[in-house]
Amino acid sequence: MQVARFINSFLLVEIVKGMALTLKYMFFVPRATLNYPHEKGPISPRFRGEHALRRYPNGEERCIACKLCEAICPALAITIEAEPRDDGSRRTTRYDIDMTKCIYCGLCQEACPVDAIVEGPNFEYAVETREELFYNKDKLLENGDRWEAQIAANIAADSRYR
Ligand code: SF4
Ligand code: SF4
Repeated sequence: MQVARFINSFLLVEIVKGMALTLKYMFFVPRATLNYPHEKGPISPRFRGEHALRRYPNGEERCIACKLCEAICPALAITIEAEPRDDGSRRTTRYDIDMTKCIYCGLCQEACPVDAIVEGPNFEYAVETREELFYNKDKLLENGDRWEAQIAANIAADSRYR
């Protein structure tokens, strides 16, 4: 027993085993981690990220100011004001979401009859001040314009389950 231990120590067997394991994981085993933020993992079409207000392809706002999202929001995070336009259609004059209250339940999105308010795929919107999390209509429409292609693709991918 003592001899075996001596030989193992003399030949650095444990170090060789450790190095072999290290080299195996360096070159032959697929990585289990991502080099975020340079690499990003896949996101489900149902991912509930940053909110956005969508437009139709002609640029018109989808939202018809029905206020269903405001009524259903359990966190009372949505505030809407609306008035009729000259052509008789109703549109919001104010659409705010207090993102510090939002619990990302997705009910606003579920309630919307015209797929106007959605929780988009963006999860990278950390900010430095609380005020930056009080979203107004301009900010939400800007989000919609920015993410529309991905949002439309996600809604299409999930459409048969809705
Ligand atoms: S995701 Fe839920 S909590 Fe957040 S704004 Fe929509 S309804 Fe309100
Ligand atoms: S976002 Fe949708 S649910 Fe909310 S007021 Fe507009 S149309 Fe209605």
